[in-house]
Amino acid sequence: MTDFPLRPGATIGIVGGGQLGRMLAMAAARFGYRITVLDPSAACPAAQVATEMIVGPYDDEACLRRLAGLSDVLTYEFENVAVAPLRKAMGETPLAPPAEALEVSQDRVVEKAFLNGIGVETADWRAIDAADELGHALLDLGGDCILKTRRFGYDGKGQARLNADTTFTDAFEAIGRAPAILEKRVPFAYEISIIAARGQDGAIAAYDPAENVHSLGILKSSTIPGRVTDELAERAKAIAAQILSHLNYVGVIGVEFFVGKDDTLLVNEIAPRVHNSGHWTEAACLVSQFEQHVRAIAGLPLASPERHFDCVMENLIGEDVDRFDRLVAEPRSVLHLYGKAEVRRGRKMGHVTHVTPLSRGA
Ligand code: ADP
Ligand code: MG
Repeated sequence: MTDFPLRPGATIGIVGGGQLGRMLAMAAARFGYRITVLDPSAACPAAQVATEMIVGPYDDEACLRRLAGLSDVLTYEFENVAVAPLRKAMGETPLAPPAEALEVSQDRVVEKAFLNGIGVETADWRAIDAADELGHALLDLGGDCILKTRRFGYDGKGQARLNADTTFTDAFEAIGRAPAILEKRVPFAYEISIIAARGQDGAIAAYDPAENVHSLGILKSSTIPGRVTDELAERAKAIAAQILSHLNYVGVIGVEFFVGKDDTLLVNEIAPRVHNSGHWTEAACLVSQFEQHVRAIAGLPLASPERHFDCVMENLIGEDVDRFDRLVAEPRSVLHLYGKAEVRRGRKMGHVTHVTPLSRGA
């Protein structure tokens, strides 16, 4: 059993050692916590900063059991963790965010049904199990749709646009014939996300929304406040809070929205973890999303999500990182690299946040 709040010297176990795990580990270290990471690669980004590594598959029950045995609390840095072995392996070790948040967010059909069930609006959708269901569903939704795999999609992977020129078999083939969801394409004005946290005491703290730009399915930049009005920000925060409460959530969540031309809000998807569109918080807020997550899962009070700068966070993808010398010389930019040795096309190598004075009262 674990006594909360965690004292300095306690151990946090993280499933996944990518850049998110790395940044969580760095934040946890500031409270004197020890970090154990489970990742298939001994050379993962988190390995450079973790106290201890367990090298093995994420869904390996024995590895998960070792991780749980070493940890006072367990968390994860990505939503595709297999829930069954994790539940079996965790034993008495608490898990945060809860397993239900994983189950909801790792299947786009379950996720949309959950959101609609608690009164949160999304794009219209239909579940698709075979190519021959596509014609009817497409007609039903009024054409112009996106076909997405129910599971394992990220950075725009596992998606196919459906219009007059695509045949159903081609579209289903393109996503690997996996169980799918057909979504009505939303003619959004822009996209935003909310990073919010819920503590063990039920307190909720939401950061200001980020306006996000994607390129080839990958987040390119987050701008705060961007085009987001105070009124829109409050509505988006309230939706995030509603989702957190319904999931009895502990930790940080990322909620992605489409903003319509008339300022309507539809939720696109939720991520039960720290989120790329929240990296700016380390440069522009009192406390980063990473520390906020650590606080929540350690049973500490949440910190104020207040922001002291406007900012633009830019992802450094592939060769973008070659701008290192110039970026590190910018006096009002905060550079953060993930320690990945090999530069590859489309690979997230780091991010940089450019700050400017607040444009309106905080
Ligand atoms: P991923 O899990 O890869 O992030 P998303 O569902 O967030 O998948 O899709 C990636 C991007 O594709 C979104 O940020 C958005 O730009 C676009 N997109 C996804 N679904 C829709 C939709 N229904 N209508 C319009 N654009 C969409
Ligand atoms: Mg997304």
